[in-house]
Amino acid sequence: MRMKINYSFTRFHILTSSHWYMNQLDAAAEILKQGGLVAIPTETVYGLAANAFNEEAVLSIYKTKNRPHFNPLIIHSNSVERFAEWGIYLPELALKLASEFCPGPITFVVPSSKKIPDMVTAGHDSVAIRIPNHPLTLELLGMLDFPLAAPSANPSAFVSPTSAAHVKQQLGDKIKCILDGGECQVGIESTIVSFLENTPRILRYGGLAKEQIESTLGIIVNVPQVKGDISKFIAPGMMERHYAPNKNLIICDDMEKELLNHQGHSIGIISFSKKYGNIDLKKQFILSPLRNLDEAARHLFSALRSLNDLDVHIILAEKFPNEGLGIAINDRLKRASVQ
Ligand code: AMP
Ligand code: MG
Repeated sequence: MRMKINYSFTRFHILTSSHWYMNQLDAAAEILKQGGLVAIPTETVYGLAANAFNEEAVLSIYKTKNRPHFNPLIIHSNSVERFAEWGIYLPELALKLASEFCPGPITFVVPSSKKIPDMVTAGHDSVAIRIPNHPLTLELLGMLDFPLAAPSANPSAFVSPTSAAHVKQQLGDKIKCILDGGECQVGIESTIVSFLENTPRILRYGGLAKEQIESTLGIIVNVPQVKGDISKFIAPGMMERHYAPNKNLIICDDMEKELLNHQGHSIGIISFSKKYGNIDLKKQFILSPLRNLDEAARHLFSALRSLNDLDVHIILAEKFPNEGLGIAINDRLKRASVQ
């Protein structure tokens, strides 16, 4: 049975008058079949989706986001079996993770198939695939006979959107349709794992914790390779400056000390659970009062957006515990801090 969900479309949401008579999910499917773009909700962040088999449509993703062409896209569908129909197969360890965590916040980098255009893989012979965990998007994917290429629905290098309102704010004048599936439940991008070597390698930390991957596989996985190494396993999503607000962000080992150092500046704060004296509470974003890293990850991007819009000159961010989703939070803060 179809879930009852509120959809919101941007002011230019309907392509032709016939769409008025359609269910809005049907309308979104129709727009995608015609080569258009639709912003879709997922559990991680909102995606800007197009038919992955249609090069023109994929090109328009790059144009809309102003995304560099060398940065490949993740393709989405609703089951491992459908990817296999398109010639994309998961190796055994990936299947083990998929049966435990899919649909969920993990992306698999595996050998590509002839069906996938170079425009999607940026010319690599590997492809990144994912099964997102959102009922609306899973239903949409089930209505299509192609996968959706979908990077985050934000201008390239800016903070990812975790609500339909965020998408509308930044891309509302460029895209015709936003499916509103509410707030993203994970709120940080997927963990990307490459299966191109003997041992799986995390390429990007994200919404599925390394510890969970390792305990399911019963092995220690490899971690992202260091900057400067030009190996093919360096993924462009690991670009130095990314996920960034337009403000100077400083990661603090000792917040009290940094507050003293920046006295006289208009300061915004990202903290795990603590409030700091002398700083306007409206400019302090406490990500999880009970110190839950999953909750903190969920609130990170909306805090960065709010701070970007507030009258603050410097954002001081606490360093988070380097475990669970804290690793992904620290990774995003680090990239947001690069000038
Ligand atoms: P996003 O920008 O969140 O949509 O994630 C896309 C990221 O997935 C890219 O920036 C890469 O880091 C990674 N990725 C996609 N395709 C590949 C691939 N074929 N090989 C390695 N990494 C990939
Ligand atoms: Mg992105």
